[in-house]
Amino acid sequence: MRNLIDGIQDFSKNVFPNKKKLFQELAEGQKPHTLLITCSDSRIDPNLITQTEPGELFVLRNAGNIVPPYGASKGGEEASIEFAIEGLGVKNIVVCGHSKCGAMAALLGKADTSQLPATKLWLDYAAATKKRMTNTSADEHIRCTEENVLVQIQNLKTHPAVSLALAKGKIQIFAWVYHFESGNVHMYQNKIGKYVPVADLKTDQDKHPDLFCL
Ligand code: ZN
Repeated sequence: MRNLIDGIQDFSKNVFPNKKKLFQELAEGQKPHTLLITCSDSRIDPNLITQTEPGELFVLRNAGNIVPPYGASKGGEEASIEFAIEGLGVKNIVVCGHSKCGAMAALLGKADTSQLPATKLWLDYAAATKKRMTNTSADEHIRCTEENVLVQIQNLKTHPAVSLALAKGKIQIFAWVYHFESGNVHMYQNKIGKYVPVADLKTDQDKHPDLFCL
């Protein structure tokens, strides 16, 4: 806790004054452009990897970046998704998995969950991911992560706020996987049915959101 207290003191003394205008504006209200749904893993820093400022990302995190289908859970996911779309008017929804995800290891039966009954139950919302894992190659873990993001996007689309906003063309949905080893985010390109490294996208044409939205 001591390092957190020191960090807060450093922030309020040295960081806050340098961004005072931004924080004053944000004190009046938020207008994030993106709902980012990602894992609780401590190695993911959404603002750092996207080089965004406070106020830009509305972030929903849980173990395994899971989105229970609408009505299936009494958790906070439904309310957060609804509020992001209806209350804040986000334009993008990103579901972002990551390499070395402990939840995916548990899903694949490669992590001991005997003392984690709540985790086991929670991973039922990713049961379809496991079903989609057809072969067991060396890349099984990362492929599971990639498939899981797509499965969770299907679940996301069962939420009325999401399907309505999609039908009206108000939002776009994207699938990302963040690789700790390289610092790269791989983004699912709908047209080719594959994840591609964002670092390799060069031209504006390569980066066009329509190539990637789901
Ligand atoms: Zn994870």
